[in-house]
Amino acid sequence: MRDIKYLKRLFIGYYKEKKENITIINSFTQREFGVIPWTKETIMMRHMSFINKESLINFLINNGPKHVYSSGALYDLPESQNMAGKGYQKCDLIIDVDVDHFYTPCKDKHDLWICKNCGKLGRGMPKKCPACKKLKLKTLPWICENCLDSAKKEIIKLIYDFLIPDFDIDLSQMKIAFSGHRGYHLKVENEKIRTLTSDERREIIDYITGENISFEVLGLQERTQSIFGFFKQTIGWPQKIIRRIEEILRKPNLEIENLLSDKRNFNLNKNLIKSLLNYKEDFLNILNNEQKNNWTIEGFGLNTWHKFLNTIVSEIGIEVDTPVTIDIHRLIRYPGSLHGKTGFKVQELYPDQLEDFNPLDEPNKKLDPIVFESEKKITQKIKIIEPNVPATKMKGETHGPYVQGEIIEVPHHIAVFLLCKGVAKTV
Ligand SMILES: [Zn+2]
Ligand SMILES: [Zn+2]
Repeated sequence: MRDIKYLKRLFIGYYKEKKENITIINSFTQREFGVIPWTKETIMMRHMSFINKESLINFLINNGPKHVYSSGALYDLPESQNMAGKGYQKCDLIIDVDVDHFYTPCKDKHDLWICKNCGKLGRGMPKKCPACKKLKLKTLPWICENCLDSAKKEIIKLIYDFLIPDFDIDLSQMKIAFSGHRGYHLKVENEKIRTLTSDERREIIDYITGENISFEVLGLQERTQSIFGFFKQTIGWPQKIIRRIEEILRKPNLEIENLLSDKRNFNLNKNLIKSLLNYKEDFLNILNNEQKNNWTIEGFGLNTWHKFLNTIVSEIGIEVDTPVTIDIHRLIRYPGSLHGKTGFKVQELYPDQLEDFNPLDEPNKKLDPIVFESEKKITQKIKIIEPNVPATKMKGETHGPYVQGEIIEVPHHIAVFLLCKGVAKTV
């Protein structure tokens, strides 16, 4: 309880001192706001609206909430207590990429779990306990530069491989935000796209993830014992797939062998890889010939092609958190507000700022999400209350790993992070 009060005070201090960080999103007065206060139970207070920046900031200073959200949707009466009374008008298209939802190799090092049934401890992101097979896992997901970088790369792919070429959306209509924890969301502010229904949004997700893709519809077929594939000039998925196949085939043979035999990935057997390598040059010529699409390769039946193409599609497709896009009444984190599980600021970014953005060690102070770094290098004593806490690397310094009971003295921003994560208490 004492730490909750302490964190709330810190958040209030931030909202008092850094008013300029709270940007005003467009159609501000038509947005529904929601907050999660610093209570033990997680309860969201929804159905609020603000008439201007001042009233929002006053609210934040008076309440210092743990999390702050606003709607992607625009309403006539955003403060109406029920959805029917709000008068829904339209909704920004929001695409969310969060490392919670996809595997990255670094999770095998830093994501911890404990089985509430049998007590087994482990690392990584299993769906169920490998020992007792029960689903009762308590997880302690962590962050590092690698997984945050994977999330960033997904957003970059989303913009340059899909939204611009296939949907003709202008860069100036895209806003990106680092969520303050494990991901990014991208918001498209385009009048035509704002009117899309939930079903139409689902179709966009199906397209950018490559889920439910039909290779037959794209042209894959077997005729008179030959396999026919796609043409490179067909814009959209066929072109993306062929470009990736070319990229693979232009690698040195040893690298191709390693990639295609990888069990987590293509998982092709030796004979198939050998046969593909033998045919490599001819196949590259066919892929670049606008008239030819005969993809017959010894040993590659339709099933093998499906497996091979599905792996390529999963590499190209974007890892998104689907419900965020299709639920038009969903609330998303407000730019400039603080994330109560890290103490980081939700940082809005233009597409051209994304490439260089490094949330855990950002040199540009205006973009730096780590707002509790102390200029005077203040340190703080805290006690670890979880059995195991992974190492935390921020601002180029690594702190931890730690075990339960340890009393540590760390820089202020690290202390705030560990307190927000709920793995430590003040002493
Ligand atoms: Zn278990
Ligand atoms: Zn990581």
